[in-house]
Amino acid sequence: MHELAVTQSILEIVEKHAKAAGASQVTDIHLTIGDLSSIVDDSVQFYWEIITAGTLCEHTRLHFNRIKAKIRCLECMTEYTLDHDLTPCPNCGSNQIKILSGEEFQVESIEIETESEKT
Ligand SMILES: [Zn+2]
Repeated sequence: MHELAVTQSILEIVEKHAKAAGASQVTDIHLTIGDLSSIVDDSVQFYWEIITAGTLCEHTRLHFNRIKAKIRCLECMTEYTLDHDLTPCPNCGSNQIKILSGEEFQVESIEIETESEKT
């Protein structure tokens, strides 16, 4: 379980950007998670509510955008997407495959409120 560390790094990134933008509250965070990353949405959400207490990110809504993994077969160069687990090439059955994407985990965008908007 490394979601706590992951969640803390999200908070660090978001707070840095939010403060730089003069935010008084972060309302929404959009996260992109590759299907092959082992991140569990519910765990991130769980830790999020604990570690954001008293920060700019308290009560911020998390949006999880799951993206399918992209694979290239090294035998026949076919590219395909995965539903869940790693599977051999659908064209030639080879296991000589390269993961092009699907392991990423990143903060895609954040939405904030500033003091001036509130008044
Ligand atoms: Zn192939």
